[in-house]
Amino acid sequence: MGASRADFTLDDALDAEIARAADRVRRAEHVVALTGAGLSVESGIPPFRGPGGLWTRYGEPPMDGYQRFLRDPKRAWEERLDPSAPWAKALGETLAAAKPNSAHRALAELERRGACAAVITQNVDDLHRQAGTRNLLEIHGNHTLLRCTECNARFATDELAVDPAALPPHCPACSGVVKDDTVHFGEPIPPDVLRGCFAAVEICDCMLVAGTSAMVYPAAEFPLEVVRRGGQLIEVNPEETELTASSTHSLRGPAGAVLGRLLHHVAATEAGA
Ligand SMILES: [Zn+2]
Repeated sequence: MGASRADFTLDDALDAEIARAADRVRRAEHVVALTGAGLSVESGIPPFRGPGGLWTRYGEPPMDGYQRFLRDPKRAWEERLDPSAPWAKALGETLAAAKPNSAHRALAELERRGACAAVITQNVDDLHRQAGTRNLLEIHGNHTLLRCTECNARFATDELAVDPAALPPHCPACSGVVKDDTVHFGEPIPPDVLRGCFAAVEICDCMLVAGTSAMVYPAAEFPLEVVRRGGQLIEVNPEETELTASSTHSLRGPAGAVLGRLLHHVAATEAGA
């Protein structure tokens, strides 16, 4: 995986294909981007599974993490504040150090230019927000936020004081138990986010699928639904995926390089128009 990025060079054929994809983005009514782990990896965040993955190295978290939280939120909070699991420690340190890359920045800039209506991401790393994307749907939550398990209100860490002597924290609005926003194993996707995703997909006539093979529900549904509705897919991935056959453009390269170049072509066409 690292080798393919190091070896990557943007040749003329790929650049011409990126230019055609950029033209499609520019002409579409509602472009929605769907992103996944590939973008995080390019910011130095290791994937969970696969070679070099956090869980591969340190062992998987419990498959019933959410049920454990609900059974004993106090203990789950104590574990969050002082993680004993090595993968959780390693992930926390990596996330704290990670910075947005040119893929995150390109998507934020496309939004500013009115060329991207929404970003749906499977990543919890906050990097789309840090890059400036505003209409962001985080299917698996955001590791920097807290969420009420009753009313789904989100809180930044400076908005809700967590007192280690009075765990778990409670929601100021409805007094429900507050957990971290990251979706645990066994936890349903927050319904407000899921509704937002389906609303975005319903009007989407061009989906940019970057850094994900979108094999896992609910993300797997979105590109298929766009195709069913007659929309186009633009796939950005170094490898072929199950979506390749349904994609109008398959841009084979790392998301940072390809989306940076896509933005360049969108901007160049606008300037020339
Ligand atoms: Zn609440």
